[in-house]
Amino acid sequence: TDILQKQDKEIFDAIENEVRRQTETLELIASENFASRAVMEACGSVMTNKYAEGYPGKRYYGGCEYVDVAEDLARDRARKLFGCEYVNVQPHSGSSANMGVLFSVLKPGDRIMGLDLAHGGHLTHGSAVNFSGQLFEAHAYGVDRETGCIDMNRVEEMALEVRPKLIICGASAYSQGFDFKAFREIADKVGAFLMADIAHPAGLIAAGLLNDPIPHCHFVTTTTHKTLRGPRGGMIMMGQDFENPMGITIKTKTGRRTKMMSEVIDAEIMPGIQGGPLMHIIAAKAVAFGEALQPEFREYAVQVRANAAAMAAKFSSLGYDIVSGGTKNHLMLIDLRNKDVTGKKAENLLHEAGITVNKNMVPFDDKSPFVTSGIRIGTPAMTTRGMNEADAESVVTLIDRVISSAGNDDISTVCAGVREDVRALCADLPLNDFGPTP
Ligand code: PLP
Repeated sequence: TDILQKQDKEIFDAIENEVRRQTETLELIASENFASRAVMEACGSVMTNKYAEGYPGKRYYGGCEYVDVAEDLARDRARKLFGCEYVNVQPHSGSSANMGVLFSVLKPGDRIMGLDLAHGGHLTHGSAVNFSGQLFEAHAYGVDRETGCIDMNRVEEMALEVRPKLIICGASAYSQGFDFKAFREIADKVGAFLMADIAHPAGLIAAGLLNDPIPHCHFVTTTTHKTLRGPRGGMIMMGQDFENPMGITIKTKTGRRTKMMSEVIDAEIMPGIQGGPLMHIIAAKAVAFGEALQPEFREYAVQVRANAAAMAAKFSSLGYDIVSGGTKNHLMLIDLRNKDVTGKKAENLLHEAGITVNKNMVPFDDKSPFVTSGIRIGTPAMTTRGMNEADAESVVTLIDRVISSAGNDDISTVCAGVREDVRALCADLPLNDFGPTP
């Protein structure tokens, strides 16, 4: 950073300020984490300089012998971590991974089903403002108004009615598990492909703490930077490769043969939707998967979930309404309507107090996505800093001090007071081998 400081003071300062922000505030955004220094070293390595279109051993560029080592290691470790036969580690992001699968099996206008964005789904699961909702005929299933949980009977009814070609399960703001087996039975009944997007709980699934999608889904996509604690990126997996039923063939020396699904997906990622892979990020993915294969990662994942459970219980005891009644994973969605404060206001006040969360729509929300009635809270990042259940309860107390004073005249004083306590708690939870170098 010496060189950067001399050459580009503006960017150097922005990074220094971000280091301070990450160190001195409570990071509760459910989709964020602190990657290890080893992961960040790989991200910042010379592999960023290399073009490597193609796949290991079959590149369109020379000089790929060492990036091939990195991509092979990333693939081997991912296969071992998730117990899958096929993986593509090249998607630049979770959205690209989803685009890769959708473009591999669908034609424009085909019908898809995914969880409603307003009920916890992701943009790429069929939202009208995303390619998935613009190129395909998207039908959204939701959660039950009473339980806040996905009603599989309703999913089945909708699938029988819609006859989708692809069903997507997985979410960005859903605190319950997914019954992948039941989803597969429904997909088989209507002749649909099933894709699980495990971007959020991937780390907990790798640790064996939640239902495993790999045996039940045709495709499993994920990001690598959330609970998995790797660099920002995406990945596509298949438990087992299979002959593509779309009749896509390939010309070989001995004639034509049907392409396997793995070949269809590889070709969709490159050259279909991407060019050169980010080899520095792929190297960092390999490092992160190596970390996730260690026993300490399982301990981490267990603590992530225990902390989320402790926070949800404490919030409930203080009269907060947790959507779907609690959490089985790393996050919770809090409906603030009974606290008379919007998600937007809560996010802003908590920010003032040094606590980072995001406003979030709750199911059947009557407010716009810019205002919202809820906030989403997750434990992956703070658990990396060593947060335990007792700390998690203290965090809830800090959040409650802000939210319960939201309408009072002395709210700025309250936020300033909480800010001091946040700083102290952060000092007790050092980043050690993760996140910014102090
Ligand atoms: N899928 C789910 C369920 C997500 O929550 C996210 C990110 O929030 C994505 C996909 C997209 O990932 P990215 O932001 O890397 O495109």
